[in-house]
Amino acid sequence: MFESLSDRLSGIFDKLTGRGALSENDVNEALREIRRALIEADVALPVVRSFTDKVRNRAVGAEVVKSVTPGQMVVKIVHDQLVEMLGAESQGVDLNAAAPVTIMMVGLQGSGKTTTTSKIARRLTQRDKRKVLMASLDTRRPAAQEQLKVLGEQNDVDTLPIVEGQGPVDIAKRAMTAAKLGGYDVVLLDTAGRTHIDEPLMVEMADVKSATQPHEILLVADALTGQDAVNLAKNFDERVGITGIALTRMDGDGRGGAALSMHAVTGKPVKLVGTGEKSDALEDFHPKRIADRILGMGDIVSLVEKAAEAIDAEKAAEMARRMQKGHFDLNDLAEQLKQMEKLGGMSGMMGMLPGVGKMKKQIEASNIDDKMFKRQVAIIQSMTKIEKRKPELLKASRKKRIAAGAGVGVAEVNKLLKMHRQMADMMKQMGKKKGMLGKMMGGL
Ligand code: GDP
Repeated sequence: MFESLSDRLSGIFDKLTGRGALSENDVNEALREIRRALIEADVALPVVRSFTDKVRNRAVGAEVVKSVTPGQMVVKIVHDQLVEMLGAESQGVDLNAAAPVTIMMVGLQGSGKTTTTSKIARRLTQRDKRKVLMASLDTRRPAAQEQLKVLGEQNDVDTLPIVEGQGPVDIAKRAMTAAKLGGYDVVLLDTAGRTHIDEPLMVEMADVKSATQPHEILLVADALTGQDAVNLAKNFDERVGITGIALTRMDGDGRGGAALSMHAVTGKPVKLVGTGEKSDALEDFHPKRIADRILGMGDIVSLVEKAAEAIDAEKAAEMARRMQKGHFDLNDLAEQLKQMEKLGGMSGMMGMLPGVGKMKKQIEASNIDDKMFKRQVAIIQSMTKIEKRKPELLKASRKKRIAAGAGVGVAEVNKLLKMHRQMADMMKQMGKKKGMLGKMMGGL
């Protein structure tokens, strides 16, 4: 999986990471090569473009952290961008609903739908200890229902008894009833496929959907078909609505274009990948692990992460030292706001501090959210150097200018200044209790 892209990128990064300094030209050259590598891996063009734009923006704005090289920093930025492109969080099949949880499997004929249905059923039964019922709604292809029955027997999973002459919706309804009566946790509905998308197929899918109200609708798509798989997912999503994708034949896919672009193009997560014909050849899709595998540079990524943490800790210690001496100006507040954003917002951070319950309530009452952090930082950035150090200089006309510069009202500037005063007072008091502030500022 992803061998070709992995090979190409490691060549690009070997060149980058060996250097002490990087010029803009070096970065541009690397980005051109990354772009080419992604296109060769069959990643959709708009996805490639947005990927390289984002990497460029981040690389330009990035502070290079002490003890790593600029090249290593670029590797980390590319890694993070890959994870974002792949879908950030790993999302397995969601069983969070009242039993029987219904999973509807959709896709074209030959994509591996029946095989994947039984792989999922086997895994839910063996690994997750669920009671699973499978039903084939494919009345068109001779022996389709029989095929699922055989797979069920091989994997010790129950299948709905076959009744000749029933249509897909009736079979689906019968499956739901049988699942309820039989105390099943999960029902897997293996719908019929076609060689291509056509109107009757879409109507049939919509009918089955409205008759069963499935919790998950998983599109099974063949990774080897590359961008066709991505377009298929888009189509199915627009017509039927899907909750996720299972990509099959990843074992034979050295390029990975479908897996790489699927989430970015459709907005739907790849949840599972099929990695072989055997009934246990099914894996969860983990964006971070896959990015690690593609880049093959896990040690550099964790090195940069650790170095960045160390920098945060240094900054926090410096701030703690200043505050203990009674200094807490608006530069410190801006730095603090940025740190807090990283720590899960103001109330998240306040929640970690002892003895600030009252202030926490005030902060919550003033409705501080993440956007607010950004606006507050913008307010501080609209001030002159002297104003940041001496907020007492801020009278009406200066406040007006700052508010206009940050695109907020004067009231918001006042609110920020009030908060700063309260925090400065609190910091001063806490600074007197030796050691406490240090602990508070990041376990130092
Ligand atoms: P359906 O028509 O969509 O139900 O497709 P099937 O489930 O019958 O699968 C078609 C063929 O693809 C079978 O020979 C499967 O063994 C094979 N297949 C399914 N998933 C995978 C996979 O992840 N890797 C490989 N190599 N073969 C697969």
